[in-house]
Amino acid sequence: MEDTNKLKIELERTKNELKILYEVSNAMRTTLKLDEILYIILTGVTAHTGLGFNRAILFLVNEKERLIEGKMGIGPENGEEANIAWTKIEEERMDLDDLINAFKNSDVVLESGFNRQVRNLKVSLLDKNEDPLSLSVLDGMPLHLTGPALTKYQNSPVIKALDSNELLLIPLKAKNRVNGIIAADNFITHEPITKDDIRMLTMLANQAGLAIENSQLFELTVERAHSDYLTNLWNHGYFQTLLQSEIEKAKAVKDPLSLIMVDIDDFKIYNDTLGHQAGDKILRTLAGLLRNQSRKMDKVCRYGGEEFTIILPHTDKKEAFLIAERIRTDIQKHPFLNEEILPSKQLTVSLGIATFPNSGALAADLIHASDKALYEAKKLGKNNTFSA
Ligand code: GH3
Ligand code: MG
Ligand code: MG
Repeated sequence: MEDTNKLKIELERTKNELKILYEVSNAMRTTLKLDEILYIILTGVTAHTGLGFNRAILFLVNEKERLIEGKMGIGPENGEEANIAWTKIEEERMDLDDLINAFKNSDVVLESGFNRQVRNLKVSLLDKNEDPLSLSVLDGMPLHLTGPALTKYQNSPVIKALDSNELLLIPLKAKNRVNGIIAADNFITHEPITKDDIRMLTMLANQAGLAIENSQLFELTVERAHSDYLTNLWNHGYFQTLLQSEIEKAKAVKDPLSLIMVDIDDFKIYNDTLGHQAGDKILRTLAGLLRNQSRKMDKVCRYGGEEFTIILPHTDKKEAFLIAERIRTDIQKHPFLNEEILPSKQLTVSLGIATFPNSGALAADLIHASDKALYEAKKLGKNNTFSA
């Protein structure tokens, strides 16, 4: 009789586990947006109807910079916060689907204190002996850390920040590569982590790794489709999309927006004398300069052959003029290869500026006005900035 009961309980648990895995993998298939994928994974790990951990963090491996970076964290910062969140979920009978929909419609998770803390966490991939996250990523092994192990790693930034008394680290795998790691603990309830928890989280992690890889590949493809092959700046088509959406935003918050059009002076002479390949090199160097000299919020695009545009959100005519002049003088000072063959002995650009709303309310108006301003700058003798 006892055996039958045991079997029943076992069966019930297996059924529930399958249900969770099924729901999470289904949810992951509904989107390719990385943020949504990460949220679905973490919800599966923390929801009461999921694995039920108190807290979970997702780290992604940044191969280029050899770093493991905190991307998203779900969990309360203290017992009181936990009570409020868990009562709400209980009372509203929120299942996995409801939680995921709530995420798509609000920024609450992304703006939580815990998530902010998580996004600042970084671990170098090199010191395998210093940090359990590096160890788990490099060896592709799950780690279940309790008292003594946690003390050993007390200098790890992640261990310090989490202050857990028991912690589970599970690597995420895509094909043969570890592309991330999930850290989970029961920070509030102190419930022990069981063998079943580890097994379940490992199964979920295998699906999660693949979903993350797909989403990253998709995002890379979209970015490539919007980029210019030669300069890697945003291409003409995407410039039009960006300008329109930035104008909409400017309208909504009643902010100005400026557009700078940049054109190389006497570039035909440079090309005719030194060949198109030499000209292409100049275009690449110039693109790098424009990117470096603009602010993070500015959008630098290749408008056409040797013409570039810069969209400057929240920027009025006066400020745009200062920025354009700084770009112009920096380019004038930059030593370009063989620039002495040019009539002015140096490579320079002319810039035209238009500003929303003064120069017009449509993308086409701003482009037309900045083009006209550029023409005026050329008429002033080139190596000049003119504002519409
Ligand atoms: P201005 O000072 O009036 O702008 O004179 P310009 O010679 O720069 O202007 P124009 O419009 O007469 O010629 C632009 C030249 O830019 C023509 C072509 O040789 C060069 N060009 C355009 N696109 C490319 C490109 O993709 N690669 C290279 N290497 N050259 C390009
Ligand atoms: Mg031109
Ligand atoms: Mg030109």
